[in-house]
Amino acid sequence: MGFYNILDRHVLLPLADLAYGSEIARQWKELRRTEFLPYPEILALQNIKLNRLIEHCYDSVPYYRKLFDRLGLRPEDILTKEDLSKLPILTKQIIRDNYDDMFSTTIDPKRFRRSSSGGSTGTPLKFCTDNHEWSMQRASTLRAWDSYGLKLGDKVFSLGGDSIARKKNAVSFKNVYDTVIMRNYKFNSSEVDDAGMKQHLDSFKRISPSAIRGYGSSLVIFARYIKETGYKPSGIKVVLTTGEVLMPNYRKELEEVFSAPVFDAYGAGDGGIVSHECSCHNGLHITEELCVIEITDKNGNVLPDGETGFVTTTDLENYAFPFIRYHVGDMSYFKKDSCSCGRHTRQLGEVMGRAGKLLYNKQGVPISPTMLPIMLYPNLDYHCVEYQQEYNKIDRFQIRQDNKGDIQIMLKMKEGVKDTVFKEDIVENYKRHFVGSEVSLLIVDDIPLLPSGKEDYCVSDFHLFEQ
Ligand SMILES: [Zn+2]
Repeated sequence: MGFYNILDRHVLLPLADLAYGSEIARQWKELRRTEFLPYPEILALQNIKLNRLIEHCYDSVPYYRKLFDRLGLRPEDILTKEDLSKLPILTKQIIRDNYDDMFSTTIDPKRFRRSSSGGSTGTPLKFCTDNHEWSMQRASTLRAWDSYGLKLGDKVFSLGGDSIARKKNAVSFKNVYDTVIMRNYKFNSSEVDDAGMKQHLDSFKRISPSAIRGYGSSLVIFARYIKETGYKPSGIKVVLTTGEVLMPNYRKELEEVFSAPVFDAYGAGDGGIVSHECSCHNGLHITEELCVIEITDKNGNVLPDGETGFVTTTDLENYAFPFIRYHVGDMSYFKKDSCSCGRHTRQLGEVMGRAGKLLYNKQGVPISPTMLPIMLYPNLDYHCVEYQQEYNKIDRFQIRQDNKGDIQIMLKMKEGVKDTVFKEDIVENYKRHFVGSEVSLLIVDDIPLLPSGKEDYCVSDFHLFEQ
């Protein structure tokens, strides 16, 4: 370990916690303690946290109080995760319909961290967390990265949507944490043309990172570009993928180009899910200290291990805006076999429902659909108030690519809203990415859901497997 690694772990991170009221260092230490606990001990820990959460919801979250009263339930009726099936599924629509009632009335609103899901599986959801929840999720990631040999203070080159999501020059804790503590250098994964790729590669060489991280499809596009130039990256310890289904052929390509193992991860800020691959690479270990995951059918009936169903989560750490039995919108299954790495936490198999398709511009350059929600409003910072206000007027959207490569953007506005002021901006921005394509935008009355009931904002004849 180098000097910066030691300084970062033992001085900078604790100092940042102190300055910003987070608790990452402490929770990281606690998670290292529980990493290899026998499963009954993990379950006992979960049950203690579950009881505390249920009591909190009953006492101080109007939505849950009303729900419990309507069902004739008391907090003592939900003591274990098996008892959770007495409660109905929480959907995104239920949250939208009861938004104001989802907040805890006993937590100071000043402590809320307002957030929205990235929308990779549909319309983004507005929700809320706090510093505690945020710290737990970061600590869980640090624990996993540490086990890969990636030390805090090692430089990470990220290619993803977050780079435009991040407010430039803002002195927020997230920015300080990302740049000083995590040394995470972020770049925009939608810049996939030759000029964008050249810039990324120049930055990559200059930074000389220890890890590269991003959507599998974005990293593969970058890796192919690197290969074409004849450059041979060195010094990469790990490739970290997230946010999409990682195709086996992508994993192989990334391992070859970066000469490093690939570790996939799956997480959801709405619902508090964090899961990471271990060195056995045969599933995603759930950080079960933070959440209870059930695999259910659409009505909330628990399915047997190995059977694919809806990922249903109860977030054990979010007291500001609690999620109990929440359908994230992804599908997966529990691995039946225990893992030989020594961890006893359960593993998810492949997670389906995250962006499973690619769109192409006329030059054949693939563009990840994960970028699409962010591309809707190009001239505004993703997290700025105007963006949020304008975005909130959209009920649902869908991008279609026909077999000629042309793009149709369909927007269904909310009740009473007729139009959006950013229509021309949206079309122009899409044209920049989809060079040579006809781009049209329609305000429509309805966008049908898939037969499964899931929203699908990307409809294309192309598929990830096609090259
Ligand atoms: Zn394992």
